[in-house]
Amino acid sequence: MSELYMLGIEEAAKGLEKGDFSSVELTQAIIDRVHDHDGEIGAYLTFDEEGALAAAKVADEIRSGKSAASPSAASPLLGIPVAIKDLINVRGQPCTCGSKILKGYVSPYDATVIKNLKAAGAVCAGRVNMDEFAMGSSTENSALGRTVNPYDTSRVPGGSSGGSAAAVGGDLAIAALGTDTGGSIRQPASFCNCVGLKPSYGRVSRFGVTAFASSLDQVGPMTKNVTDAALLLQGLAGHDEMDGTTPDIPVPDYAKALEGATLKGVKLGLPKEYFIDGLDPEVKAITDAAVKTCADAGAEIVDVSLPHTEYAMAVYYIVAPAEASANLARFDGVRYGHRSDKSDNVFNLYARSRAEGFGPEVKRRIIMGTYVLSSGYYDAYYGRALKVRTLIRRDFEEVFKKVDALIAPVAPTAAFKIGEVLDPLKMYLNDLFTIPGSLAGNCSVSIPAGFTASANLPVGVQFIADAFCEDKLLRIGKAFEDIVPPVRG
Ligand code: GLN
Repeated sequence: MSELYMLGIEEAAKGLEKGDFSSVELTQAIIDRVHDHDGEIGAYLTFDEEGALAAAKVADEIRSGKSAASPSAASPLLGIPVAIKDLINVRGQPCTCGSKILKGYVSPYDATVIKNLKAAGAVCAGRVNMDEFAMGSSTENSALGRTVNPYDTSRVPGGSSGGSAAAVGGDLAIAALGTDTGGSIRQPASFCNCVGLKPSYGRVSRFGVTAFASSLDQVGPMTKNVTDAALLLQGLAGHDEMDGTTPDIPVPDYAKALEGATLKGVKLGLPKEYFIDGLDPEVKAITDAAVKTCADAGAEIVDVSLPHTEYAMAVYYIVAPAEASANLARFDGVRYGHRSDKSDNVFNLYARSRAEGFGPEVKRRIIMGTYVLSSGYYDAYYGRALKVRTLIRRDFEEVFKKVDALIAPVAPTAAFKIGEVLDPLKMYLNDLFTIPGSLAGNCSVSIPAGFTASANLPVGVQFIADAFCEDKLLRIGKAFEDIVPPVRG
């Protein structure tokens, strides 16, 4: 049998069910693995080992019937340890958002996704690194530590959910939660050989998830295969009265949707705007091969166009910083975390606490966001960006009348070297192919598709489906994965 830490959710759940091992043993295997290997990878910021083992023990008791039967007894997540991105509130744990400004903060409550996971019997196992306030594409913007790519430790894991991706890709976690605002689940999943699913906007509650850009943020699964993504999404999704953007519509049975998955007769759109000059030739070759795989398996490949794609980056870098500038106003040195001791009046307290607490990229976004919202510029930038966002959404609505899903690259390149991308504008380009879907609010998934010939780096392919069609998206992903099975490194 393979080492316990190598298992994914489905396999681990089977082993737990058969009694091959307990959740305490599984959780301990992750803890030992983190002790042995995370010094090199740096995926985790903190790990409440005692708390995780205690939760695992409860899960074992529920399974053995020693503890009062609860709805979680039949859950595939019962006793499964899941690593949590460090911007999701878990009661009694730190929640740093990768920032100095939240140093010392301990969450007094559980985010809805955490409540849901706990109700399903999952074990919150460790807090993973990220770009500060989820702003970035390499995890180099974390103020709290460096995370490297488990496939090549001289390279970045991607970002902003780089800790989640490195943990799953490096077998330091069974599965992880990430968040995606413009690509932060999908791009690191591609860089670290994981499956990363960004749910449709509103499918998963944002309550208790530290806000970056509220009209874009979504929590999603980062896993070792598509089935695991389905199982974890099931534990996250659904209406929440604490988040008014989660519609009260049924959550499909995602695992069931995978049964008999096939690409036969599936119409896959190939958006011409995603195959541009800046696309690395090796990434293009892997994407082309994925398209051919789908065609050979019976999918109908249809050329489509999303004509407003070229404006997506500009729209995102107005809308996301605008929302961030408002959301981050709450970090004032009074209510949470870091408080400057060098201030003699309340204005200085705000200004100095923020100046000392926030890193350079976060400051850049706050300045940009404040600028585009300021009087005289609001209509010219923010108002206009919202109008173009509508056009981008309509592009997708039009193509989804013709095709079941789109197939596209995830990011223009594979993982780059640490310190290689210093220009913020170049860093922003990482999300060229993930941002449009985020603006439109639909769902998409990055699935491992191959390795580059030159440096043997993992590369994912992206499937994009219409909003609230995660069942269809996962089914397509599963059919693809059945032909191109995950290669664990
Ligand atoms: N890299 C993008 C940014 O820096 C997206 C981040 C994200 O999805 N959280 O804004």
